[in-house]
Amino acid sequence: MRIEENYSLLAYNTFHLPVKARWFMEYENEEELGRILRDEYFQECISLHIGCGSNLLFINDYRGIILHSQIKGIQLVEENENTVLLRIGAAEIWDDVVAYAVSKGWGGIENLSNIPGEAGAAAIQNIGAYGVEIKDVIERVETYNQLSFEKRIFTKEECRYEYRYSFFKNEHNEPHIITHILIRLNKKPVYTLQYGTLKETLANYYPAITLTHIREAVISIRKEKLPDPKIIGNAGSFFTNPFITKQHFDKLKVQYPDMPFYPALNNRIKIPAAWLIEQCGFKGKNHGQVGVYDKQALVLTNLGDANGHEIALVAESIRAAVKERFDIELTPEVKYVD
Ligand SMILES: Cc1cc2nc3c(=O)[nH]c(=O)nc-3n(C[C@H](O)[C@H](O)[C@H](O)COP(=O)(O)OP(=O)(O)OC[C@H]3O[C@@H](n4cnc5c(N)ncnc54)[C@H](O)[C@@H]3O)c2cc1C
Repeated sequence: MRIEENYSLLAYNTFHLPVKARWFMEYENEEELGRILRDEYFQECISLHIGCGSNLLFINDYRGIILHSQIKGIQLVEENENTVLLRIGAAEIWDDVVAYAVSKGWGGIENLSNIPGEAGAAAIQNIGAYGVEIKDVIERVETYNQLSFEKRIFTKEECRYEYRYSFFKNEHNEPHIITHILIRLNKKPVYTLQYGTLKETLANYYPAITLTHIREAVISIRKEKLPDPKIIGNAGSFFTNPFITKQHFDKLKVQYPDMPFYPALNNRIKIPAAWLIEQCGFKGKNHGQVGVYDKQALVLTNLGDANGHEIALVAESIRAAVKERFDIELTPEVKYVD
């Protein structure tokens, strides 16, 4: 177990904000986690479990305890003719898991290549890209209840997955710490390639496409479109894509015939938030030390010395502009930590 006081979180947030945590506690296994959770001082403090901080915006220094897992390992727990079941420690880097699966010829997560963060957080966020979400492969999630200290295994259904949402993100539910995730992958090729740019990038490989081709194509598309958080501070998409009613959509479509859209469940329509932000004139513009990325308007960047408060202010002006022009409410995908 590692315990640090007044610990810099610079390496633990991809916005590169130089914030500190009053306490930073890192555990190696479930037994150590149990000891931390049962500690009286821990119970009196506010706390936040983090992964790599690639979806966090620290507004200030954190006054409580930052928890971080070091539970690693990828275990093959079941195998049959068609599938494998892997049990993965929450602290495994998600993209290492994808690289490992692809190297073994196990399919299902290759479209989720190059998404920053850890495996535990991936299951909380229901990460998604190029037509695939982690919920498509999740079988179970192993957790610790932070209040009752009980271990509980959630089935996929109990995780209540939706677009970028799970049971674990709902602040009305008791907080659970994820220790392991179990994912089922295919031994036989079942590819998801309907996404336009992915299809085009892979055109040369048809019909002999492999998992490696898909992984490489996804990585090259992402590198083209998104800033590398190791170089430019950012947290990926700042907002989720909004869903609107058919009525609202029909009204907007008259005024904006070129507006892109995707029909969704329950008669709702998904509108790309990037398009809305671009229409409001933010794309590629800098606001002090905060940038709106020129190749993807959904991404806010730290140009060097921004603080969390300044990033939040730019996000708020984008939100207000989109609301005024389209009457659409943008919701941050990034979690604000104060
Ligand atoms: C350049 C870039 C591109 C991105 N592209 C995508 C994309 O294509 N698709 C996508 O879905 N996301 C994307 N993201 C967002 C981000 O990668 C994901 O949200 C990721 O899952 C966050 O992982 P993390 O380990 O950094 O979690 P953190 O940001 O540290 O935490 C995220 C949430 O999980 C909680 N948490 C973390 N670990 C645990 C645990 N073990 N137990 C309990 N709670 C925990 C935290 O409290 C927080 O609420 C991108 C981010 C960046 C920077």
